[in-house]
Amino acid sequence: MDNKVYLVKCPDYEHVNEKLAELMALMGGVSQFARAGEKIVLKVNLLQSATPEKAVTTHPAVVVAVGRMARQVGAVPIIADSPGAGLPYNQKTLERIYHTTGMVEAAETAGVEVNLDTTYQAVSFPQGNLIKRFEVISPVLTADGVFSLCKLKTHTFMSMTGAIKNNFGVIPGLTKPGYHANLQDKLHFAKMLLDLAAYVSPRLSIMDAVIGMEGNGPHTGTPRQIGWLLAATNPLALDVVAGEIIGLDRAQNPVLLAAEQQGLYPHRLEQVELIGADISDVRVPNFKLPSTVFDEAGLGPLTWLAPMLKKASSLQPHIIKDRCVACGSCYQACPVDAITMNGYAHINDKACIRCYCCHEMCPEEAVELRSSWLYRLVNRT
Ligand code: SF4
Ligand code: SF4
Repeated sequence: MDNKVYLVKCPDYEHVNEKLAELMALMGGVSQFARAGEKIVLKVNLLQSATPEKAVTTHPAVVVAVGRMARQVGAVPIIADSPGAGLPYNQKTLERIYHTTGMVEAAETAGVEVNLDTTYQAVSFPQGNLIKRFEVISPVLTADGVFSLCKLKTHTFMSMTGAIKNNFGVIPGLTKPGYHANLQDKLHFAKMLLDLAAYVSPRLSIMDAVIGMEGNGPHTGTPRQIGWLLAATNPLALDVVAGEIIGLDRAQNPVLLAAEQQGLYPHRLEQVELIGADISDVRVPNFKLPSTVFDEAGLGPLTWLAPMLKKASSLQPHIIKDRCVACGSCYQACPVDAITMNGYAHINDKACIRCYCCHEMCPEEAVELRSSWLYRLVNRT
């Protein structure tokens, strides 16, 4: 597997066209990845209905630049994604999210299509180390190739979301909670993501790290200037570098730990070849990681107790009644039916598995994460 990661400084979204051209020049040109007449899915991150400045979704300027470049070689790009867990994958949802996230305008500007086909199919993947069958949205199945246009953000469950996790968006919305229900352990979930990335096998992964997200991402964190565009043919290599950029210790990065266990490369920085910048150029000081990241690590020599203390040492989701508009997104996203609706959402803490899908999907920021006494003790907060 290729271990090269290409980087170009990009201070703002006004310069994306020229900076992306520089990035592609480093990689030998976009013609290395798409040919005339090929249908190329631009697999963006459209987690939620959020405007571009909130840094929740892939910025439309990146989508325009990539779409134009693909068209220049005669390819036929189409923007596609299935938004986050708990959102039904239907035309109404897609139209609303395309509109809010700037994808409608991006598609018009670049002269590309947006996908409105909401069918999907089960596919078998016997090569998968853990998962040998996925449900995958149709545009990905009918495409000649996929360009993954991911966003660099923190993630309360997986610590960060980047090139590997972006592929989870090929799973239709209401099917996603089932993966959380069956793969409650982070390492298992990460192994599923690695299998899925191998299935999707994007020809090119391009990371929007111009403005990323810090704090309790991937939805309610804070936009943070990073100032880089990155690209790689191997999404794992891209995530190794992305983790370094935000200062995420690999011991707290389930995707890299799972990759190491499965003998996938690269899973450490020294295994990656950086082209275009040194790692010291791109590290962002004091990048705020999610408050969930330090679970377990703070237990020190008692880490082996972590599975037993999972609930007591982790953050507890809690509904802020005054903010809840009873939209039901958390109810639909919850993989273990721990949420009921009765005027507003209620969480049954005994049933909760701490996947944080409710926190991720609440459009009103009505799910807060509260710390327990043990959490505060091990994390010294
Ligand atoms: S907590 Fe949020 S997602 Fe859940 S019902 Fe209330 S507003 Fe909707
Ligand atoms: S209530 Fe618990 S199990 Fe359900 S979505 Fe929220 S964090 Fe996940």
